[in-house]
Amino acid sequence: MIENFEELKAQVLECQACKLCQTRTNVVFGVGNPHADVMFIGEGPGENEDLQGEPFVGRGGQLLDKMLQHINLSRQENIYIANMVKCRPPKNRDPEKEEVNACIGYLRNQVYLIRPKIIVCLGRVAACSLIDSNFKVTKQHGEFFEKNGVLMMGTFHPASMLRNPMQKPLGLDDFVKLREKMDSLGL
Ligand code: SF4
Repeated sequence: MIENFEELKAQVLECQACKLCQTRTNVVFGVGNPHADVMFIGEGPGENEDLQGEPFVGRGGQLLDKMLQHINLSRQENIYIANMVKCRPPKNRDPEKEEVNACIGYLRNQVYLIRPKIIVCLGRVAACSLIDSNFKVTKQHGEFFEKNGVLMMGTFHPASMLRNPMQKPLGLDDFVKLREKMDSLGL
């Protein structure tokens, strides 16, 4: 593991370990407070994220920011946001297994350095990879699971909430549950 956040970032920005390096505009390392208690993890950058080099921007990112604001969290202050793969899969397809395998060590290193108390998986791909391969977002969203001493929760991906507006209130409920869990832990 790399022990220094900036050193890790510098390494990731140069990475060519999988074929996604050939089509990316920018590596999307992550954004937020590296001392955060809560970390949000998505599957991979989309078009806007690739262009701007930051995770969860564009309409999905705006929705995420609004939901965070609702529970007094923000990427500028008290959370960290990252993805499982740091380069955009073309046409927003799911990242392939080899791509995730090539990249997941960087995410593990980020988690190791940030040491979050709670990890929120945004969407099916992240929840299935990080919580349980059989995770069903529609049934298990908002539930907390403990893994290796870290509380984990899966909820809807912001892009999915935009496509399916009925998911929005459910997602917001999950964020409220996150706030309650944080309060109960004194975070
Ligand atoms: S997706 Fe990850 S492993 Fe692949 S090139 Fe980008 S940083 Fe490297």
